[in-house]
Amino acid sequence: MAKDKEISDRWRGFQDIADSRHLANRVEREVVDALAAAVREAYPRLSHRYYAMKARWLGMEVMNHWDRNAPLPETPKAVIRWDDARDTVLAAYQRFSPDMAEIARGFFDRRWIDAPVRPGKSPGAVAHPTVPSAHPYVLLNYMGKPRDVMTLAHELGHGVHQVLAAGQGALMASTPLTLAETASVFGEMLTFRSLLEQTGDRRERKAMLAQKVEDMINTVVRQIAFYEFERKVHAERRNGELTSDRLGEFWLEVQAESLGPAIKLREGYEVFWTYIPHFIHSPFYVYAYAFGDCLVNSLYAVYQNAERGFQEKYFEMLRAGGTKHHSELLAPFGLDATDPAFWQIGLGVIGSLIDELEALDK
Ligand SMILES: [Zn+2]
Repeated sequence: MAKDKEISDRWRGFQDIADSRHLANRVEREVVDALAAAVREAYPRLSHRYYAMKARWLGMEVMNHWDRNAPLPETPKAVIRWDDARDTVLAAYQRFSPDMAEIARGFFDRRWIDAPVRPGKSPGAVAHPTVPSAHPYVLLNYMGKPRDVMTLAHELGHGVHQVLAAGQGALMASTPLTLAETASVFGEMLTFRSLLEQTGDRRERKAMLAQKVEDMINTVVRQIAFYEFERKVHAERRNGELTSDRLGEFWLEVQAESLGPAIKLREGYEVFWTYIPHFIHSPFYVYAYAFGDCLVNSLYAVYQNAERGFQEKYFEMLRAGGTKHHSELLAPFGLDATDPAFWQIGLGVIGSLIDELEALDK
């Protein structure tokens, strides 16, 4: 398959192994290179630092790879009622912008959300825009966990984005992958902050922060490690066929580099690259997750230090749908994705959440 891709790239005149993906994402190679370099450089102060702390919580110096995402025992277990989830999300949106809360409220009042778990219903969650002349639908599997409240906030973010961009019409409303998660991740962050403030118990706060940090590491650090794995595979395939042992070596290299010394990679982990469907079905797709998350974190950092008027610019950005290049969308915020310092802002948001955890840990 890697050879097939190489032939296709050559015939189409793509130079770098990831250039066809960059074109589809409407993003330049230099921008993705800057993102990947910034994330790799941040591994020690993000994933390495966090996993060393988590190993200590679990009473180990080095934890096994299967303990990486183990939930902490302090994770809140009380079931959050649907009405409370709605109020929490709408209040978080309201504090940011009454207009945004108003659009989100419409999803509840007009019954555009299907929340209950039912036999035969698919897992996961989605906001589907249908067509601009109709309205989006949100599909969830709501079970009352704090994470489900965040998922509700996430999908409503997509929903608000889809409502606002509908004016661009069916062909231009949707954004490329790299910008698709802008409103969802932002809405999730607003709601996470509210939930955290409502949680008085220090141990529960710690577990919630830890889960958030783990999600972010999995979205940013891990997906860039996946991207590096694919780069090694496709680059070396140009020199000849690869053995399965070689693929396993690449995998272990990128995992050791990204996870750091506090995680022991046990025998059998070398074949775990096979669990990522993107490697087979959509090469180099993975970096879009890191791109989107870092971009939104940078926006959130601007919002936190914002002068007035952030909200209006933010709405303009969402209304643009897929009609503008990332440079045009970010310019009003004084942000520029081609500048390596831009990615540091987003990575700094993750770093400061780990700082908060360290402070709670004392
Ligand atoms: Zn999403």
